[in-house]
Formats: sequence, structure tokens, C-alpha cells
Amino acid sequence: MSKKIAVLPGDGIGPEIVEQAVKVLKALGCDFEMEYADVGGVAYANHGHPLPEATLKLAKESDAILFGAVGDFKYDHLERHLRPEQAILGLRKALGLFANLRPAKCFKELTSASTLREEVVSGLDLVIVRELTGDIYFGTPRGRRTAPDGNFPGAPEAFDTMRYTVPEVERIARVAFEAARKRRGKVTSVDKANVLETSRLWREIVHRVHDADYADVELEDLLVDNTAMQLINRPADFDVVVTENMFGDILSDEAAQITGSLGMLASASLGDGVALYEPSHGSAPDIAGRGIANPLAQILSVEMMLRYSFGMGEAADDIRRAVTEVLDAGWRTGDIKDAETPADKVVGTAKMGDLVVEHL
Ligand code: NAD
Repeated sequence: MSKKIAVLPGDGIGPEIVEQAVKVLKALGCDFEMEYADVGGVAYANHGHPLPEATLKLAKESDAILFGAVGDFKYDHLERHLRPEQAILGLRKALGLFANLRPAKCFKELTSASTLREEVVSGLDLVIVRELTGDIYFGTPRGRRTAPDGNFPGAPEAFDTMRYTVPEVERIARVAFEAARKRRGKVTSVDKANVLETSRLWREIVHRVHDADYADVELEDLLVDNTAMQLINRPADFDVVVTENMFGDILSDEAAQITGSLGMLASASLGDGVALYEPSHGSAPDIAGRGIANPLAQILSVEMMLRYSFGMGEAADDIRRAVTEVLDAGWRTGDIKDAETPADKVVGTAKMGDLVVEHL
């Protein structure tokens, strides 16, 4: 049966890298119906809103969403609700995408591209399961006011609210334990339970779910500050890391960076219905339009789409194999080259996409 994919390239390098992922999808020869729509800054420029009604409607009607990236410094002056990043927050909320899976794997061929020593990073293969629709990013009340108390009562202040309900923690814990069962069977739950009330609830519920239904999975608790250290100290020890929205946002970028390049890592946002697939990185406005962005994270987001939304495990494996072969053959984009990469092996965005298609 034909699968409908909403293609939302967005801003910055988004359109360049999405084009490569679409090439790969087409090369699979499957019956995919792809429909494009504006999202982010380009949607604001064309329609006056970063997440126009038509884009949201298309997303809801589709079987999966291929998302590029949103954001550009030229939109920094806009009011919060009109900023490009609101599109991704809006999609997560409207589609109930509460779980963000961000694998961080160090490709054997790229261990030298990591800023960490090869023996530290070698074998790194973890997935961060980040809660996506709760926490301080969505909690109300929020805003500006005159400080009612604190260090400077009467001074102008800004405030946000960190909140978690029991069902929100339960469902993300289940996603993490299920993922661990398909991997090496270990979950590290990250919180700040020594300080935060929300984290104390988090820890209590994660353990309750574990003891009731997932006692076969190993569970450890780690404070977020310690996790930030351990990720660079012994990254290969982690399997599944489950954490709150804001902690996950920060830790997943750290995990991505130690693999060698943010340009290599895909991400899936799952809920109860349609899921969204995107690279872990942003819109990289500093290199947009120059044809040098690494499209592999976006291409690997297609691998996740085939695996999680379409149950096409073999085709997903083919994409991973093609990417690995291209790296094995020595091809690199600028962000993953090292001092030993010959100049004629450094390629741009489109060529990298073509190479993956050839190997497919
Ligand atoms: P970024 O991830 O866009 O870029 C960080 C650095 O990594 C930059 O130097 C960039 O050139 C490089 N980089 C990123 N992806 C690359 C790729 N595929 N190939 C080669 N190099 C790559 O993060 P940032 O600079 O903090 O943010 C830029 C914009 O992206 C901001 O507007 C931010 O809000 C937005 N953003 C969007 C998303 C999203 O759409 N989901 C996520 C994060 C940031």
C-alpha cells in the first residue's frame, strides 16, 4: 500500500539535505507518495506563521514526516510564537510526539573524527530517549513580571515552570525499557533528584514501572551533572539513557558531538500516531546554501522512518550498509574529514547523496 510522507525541508541547510534523503527514498523503488510543505522561517516568510494550518493538516494526514531543520538568526527578532523553532514544538504538541529517540553511535570509520581519544569513544553505541512534550519547555505559568520574592524582590524577572505528571513519566519510561530490551538491556535514568521535585517524582515513577514490568532490564540512576561528565569519560558504557526534556536536549547534543559529527546522527520523535524523523542537528545557517552540509544524518533519519514507521527493516539495513560502505571507501564531507583525508575524497552535500544512492 502506498505510504504518504510529508516532506518538510524548513530552513538553512534543511532543503539541501532533505533533497539527498528524498533521492535515497526514491532509489528504494517503493511506492512512496511525497508531499512538500513549508515549515519554520520559510513558512513565516511565505504564510506569516512558522507552522501554517496546511502544513499541520498534511502532517496529520501522512504516515510519516521527513523533517529537515528550522531556524535562522534572521528571525531572532520575532516574537516567541512566530519564531521558526515554534514549528517543531507545535508539531510535537499537535501530534503527541512525546518520545525522542536519538541514537549516538560512533562509526568505526570515524573514531578519529571524535574530539575524544579513540580508545574512549570506540564502541560508543547509545540511544538517548528524551521526553519531549513536558518539562520546563511547555510548563505554565511562564512569562515576565515583577519579582514577588527571591534575591531581588520588586526587580523585573522572567520565569518558567518545570512540571511532570505521573502518566508522562510512565509512558516515556516504557519507551526506554522497550528500547533496552531490543538492545543491550540497560537503562540509565537521568535526573536531578537531589534538588528538583519533578526529578524526585521522575525517579520514583521510573522505578515503579521498572519493578512492575521490566525487572529483566538493568536500571541505574544518574544525576544529570554526573551524566555530562560520564558521557565524555566512559561513553561506551551507556546503552539507553532516558531523561527529562531539557536534560535530554543538552545531553543528546553532547553525545552527538563525541561521536565525531552532529552531521551523522538521526532522530525519531514517536507518539501514538504519525512519527517525525529528522537529523539531530539544527539548520546550520553558517553553512547554508554552500553545498557542503553533511546529508548523512538526514539520510539515516530515513533509515529510522523505514524501521519504526513502515516496518521495512531490510530496506533500513540497506541504507545503513550503503552509508557504512561510503565511509569505508573514504568519502567524507568537510565536518567529518580529518588530517589524513585526501582532498579528492572530500565531497559536498549532493555528491554524498549520490554516493549513498550508488551503494544502495
Ligand atoms: P546547528 O546544529 O544548526 O549547528 C551547530 C554547528 O554544527 C554549526 O557549526 C554547523 O555548521 C554544524 N553543523 C550542523 N549540522 C551540520 C551538517 N549536517 N553538516 C555539517 N555541519 C553541520 O546548531 P545552532 O548553530 O545552535 O543552531 C542553528 C539554528 O538551528 C538555530 O536557529 C536553532 O534554533 C536551530 N535548531 C533547529 C533544530 C531543529 O530544527 N530541530 C534543532 C537545533 C537547532
